[in-house]
Amino acid sequence: MMAGKIDILGLGVDAQSMAEIVDFIAERIKNGDFARIVTLNAEIAYRAFGDPQMREMVNRADRVTPDGSGIVWAAGRYGRQNLERVSGIDLMQELLKEATQRGWKVFFFGGQEEIVLAAAQNAKACYDGLNVVGYRNGYFAEEEIPSILAEIKASGADLIFVGLGAPKQDFWLEQYGEETGAKVGIGVGGSFDVLSGKVRRAPRFFQAIGAEWLWRLVREPWRFKRMLALPRFMRLVMKETR
Ligand code: UDP
Repeated sequence: MMAGKIDILGLGVDAQSMAEIVDFIAERIKNGDFARIVTLNAEIAYRAFGDPQMREMVNRADRVTPDGSGIVWAAGRYGRQNLERVSGIDLMQELLKEATQRGWKVFFFGGQEEIVLAAAQNAKACYDGLNVVGYRNGYFAEEEIPSILAEIKASGADLIFVGLGAPKQDFWLEQYGEETGAKVGIGVGGSFDVLSGKVRRAPRFFQAIGAEWLWRLVREPWRFKRMLALPRFMRLVMKETR
């Protein structure tokens, strides 16, 4: 495991704050090769525990951020207290702000057509002067990938947000990220749904007590099965750290 990483069930999570991750991204946009960011939650960590291909894909990312309170809790069990949560949606908001100030070109890829369009429009309305150079919905056939890559490349995007759901978005970025011509690619899950206004984020109270998952469970009960991964993840971590 690399320095500065916390090993959580064989996954290296970066012990970096939001500000440090944003600095890293700014640096790579200025003068780096393509960098890929994974925003890791407990559900994906649990799945990756039993899936070596997924685990290696996560571990090959340039940065892995603690997306959920489950990961923050686990880091505490491994001795790293009070790690700052860096979720996909928060990181995206932070980067949109930064992009506006620094003139970075951003591209939105993922979600349904009307959702990603609304997300792009809302972002431009929220961040005056933000340069959204393109957007593309996340429903496509394998044969369309070359034209998607050409479209992103032609847009001249510096930064690409990919919301195809995890781990699809992360495998996609690993395979094709470099070909987009962008400097940084980030998997952001359902963030376009939030940015479009279709899905409301948990009130601050739920976020503050680390129970955003509970809010989501009540609002989107069909997530129940997927969410069973959280207690299973916790059980594994407790066993390892006892
Ligand atoms: N999605 C997509 N293409 C697909 C499957 C999913 O663009 O083939 C989008 C979907 O519209 C949604 C996001 O990916 O916007 C997945 O959101 P979810 O909250 O389920 O992802 P998570 O945050 O749990 O990874």
